[in-house]
Amino acid sequence: MNKLALTSAMSAALPVIDRLEQAGFETVFVGGAVRDALLGRKVQDVDIATAATPDQVMALFSRCIPTGLAHGTVTVMHDGVPYEVTTYRRESEYVDYRKPSAVTFVTDLDGDLLRRDFTVNAMALRGDGSIHDPYGGLADLRNGILRCVGDANERFREDALRMVRAVRFIGTYGFRPALSAWRSLRHRRELLRHVAMERVHAELDKMIESGNPARSLAWLDKSGLLRHTKEPLSFVVALQRRSKAKYELGFLTSISDPDARWAALAIAADVSSADTRDTLEALRMSNKRSQRIMSAVALFEGMAEWLPKGGSVIPDAMEVIDEAFMRLLLRYGVTAATDWLHVERLMANAEAAIEGSAAERLVFMDRFEKLIADAPLLVLKELDVSGAELAEALGKPAGPWLKHCLDRLLLESALGRIDNKRDVLVRQAAAWEEERAE
Ligand code: ATP
Ligand code: MG
Repeated sequence: MNKLALTSAMSAALPVIDRLEQAGFETVFVGGAVRDALLGRKVQDVDIATAATPDQVMALFSRCIPTGLAHGTVTVMHDGVPYEVTTYRRESEYVDYRKPSAVTFVTDLDGDLLRRDFTVNAMALRGDGSIHDPYGGLADLRNGILRCVGDANERFREDALRMVRAVRFIGTYGFRPALSAWRSLRHRRELLRHVAMERVHAELDKMIESGNPARSLAWLDKSGLLRHTKEPLSFVVALQRRSKAKYELGFLTSISDPDARWAALAIAADVSSADTRDTLEALRMSNKRSQRIMSAVALFEGMAEWLPKGGSVIPDAMEVIDEAFMRLLLRYGVTAATDWLHVERLMANAEAAIEGSAAERLVFMDRFEKLIADAPLLVLKELDVSGAELAEALGKPAGPWLKHCLDRLLLESALGRIDNKRDVLVRQAAAWEEERAE
């Protein structure tokens, strides 16, 4: 008999299980937590399944929230931690290749495990550490194989998102797909057009945030799935080009922020900012996240025309390039600039490892990083003169000239070419205005 030591997150949940068991309802750990505990991976949230109906669960615990009663889920609070307790169920009719809206509660555990997507996700762990594994999940886990529970063709037809989940598990866990699963996936991939973009987005996020995004992306590419989403994802074409390119996307793991990783992906695959925007919109990415990603990509795009692709730069051009960088930095912000520089550096190193040298590009990265570090100021409000003060000093009514003038003063002082001191700034502005008047 296989016995597993419970992880600390599971031990903490044990009183919830015991309570239900003592009331006569079989109750177990299920899903990702069981899989991850068996792999010795960190277990985040534990899912609990029970033979008790939601009403019976709620009668046993004073603190609970009826989270998803229609689906049989009650959130039980224990020691300040929320646990999702879901009644054993079978999913009745699948309509339109999506998750069913109605479910049927059942009392047998095997029935509940049967509706789950993959064998490695269809095991249960009892409170005493014994494993219940009716569909061979343990053997598949040991052999690193991702296999559907039951007929793969049928399971992907029922819920087409499972194909994307398959790629995620294959990629993030380093599994190989069972032949049946892979064949069916390639056969059924067009059904992905029935799946809400939000659900695809959630899976892509998990892939990109994982410990090996490059592997998931390579499998995504092989699956051809992303060409069949409900709304087109423009970056797919670029990614495919990338996967045939010189260096791999392994460097993504050196970037910890998820949004910076998305940006890095777009930059590495050379996706235009227009295509990136379309892709993020199609995925329903939040404004806040899109903004961070888009700023880095826009800055990258803006710099692309200045940086040498092959040949070296004429020394005189250096200052012009510094200025171009500073303009973009002031426009898109320090986060965008550091996100971009980080990617460029990682790519240059990856390239250097393969081709011997990327010295030229690294010289630029050093210069730009120094520009950021040395900049006495980077935002208008730190300028030692306000718009109103400048207009008064020059004796001119505010107008478009003023904004233009302030931006130019900011650029010059950020580059350290003039002092950020009121009299210096006013004198400089007066000189420019005089020049313009001539
Ligand atoms: P993660 O580590 O990403 O949370 P997980 O396996 O826990 O992985 P969840 O989306 O949290 O994934 O789902 C919990 C469990 O519910 C899965 O392990 C699986 O048994 C089942 N499940 C989730 N989505 C589906 C689906 N689309 N079809 C069938 N079963 C599913
Ligand atoms: Mg989970």
